[in-house]
Amino acid sequence: MDLKEYRPQLEEVPGLFDRIDGDVPPELAETVLTTTVDMAINWARKNSIWPMAFGLACCAIEMMAVVGPRFDLSRFGAEVFRGSPRQADLMIIAGRVSNKMAPVVQKLYQQMPEPRWVISMGACATSTGVFSNYALIPVNQIIPVDIYVPGCPPRPEQLIYAITLLQKKIESSRGTALKVLNLA
Ligand code: SF4
Repeated sequence: MDLKEYRPQLEEVPGLFDRIDGDVPPELAETVLTTTVDMAINWARKNSIWPMAFGLACCAIEMMAVVGPRFDLSRFGAEVFRGSPRQADLMIIAGRVSNKMAPVVQKLYQQMPEPRWVISMGACATSTGVFSNYALIPVNQIIPVDIYVPGCPPRPEQLIYAITLLQKKIESSRGTALKVLNLA
């Protein structure tokens, strides 16, 4: 036989598959799964986002609607609005940011523990919208923004979609375990 053409059949290699499968007791074979620490932490984080409860203008009415029974944000694990920045990891900028409010928003953001995320909801928060005057400031000039939601006002479904995009971003984070251990 020409050795160059010889390809051993998988079943000819003793123990190739039963080496792994044979070690797992049958009662555990369908109940145990393996993953990485990064993925486990990301999975927990993305399914337990806690937004901060505050609104700056009319967009906040649409933001409030997402926790009602019609839109039911709890389907995505993000319905626990917190009254304190120290218990929140998501800041939703729902409405226009005035120059007078900008330092307050910035301070609230700084009081949130890491990791923290920001959604800019509506045209006013993102670009001062229809007002576009000296009294307002786009929110990304004072804090970093992860997701922008267009519209005036955006519908509650749009905010929910933004939260699902944020979940994808959290899920794909790398180096989470090292950051948790302060090694990165
Ligand atoms: S984007 Fe429209 S709805 Fe939202 S705060 Fe501005 S004016 Fe109000």
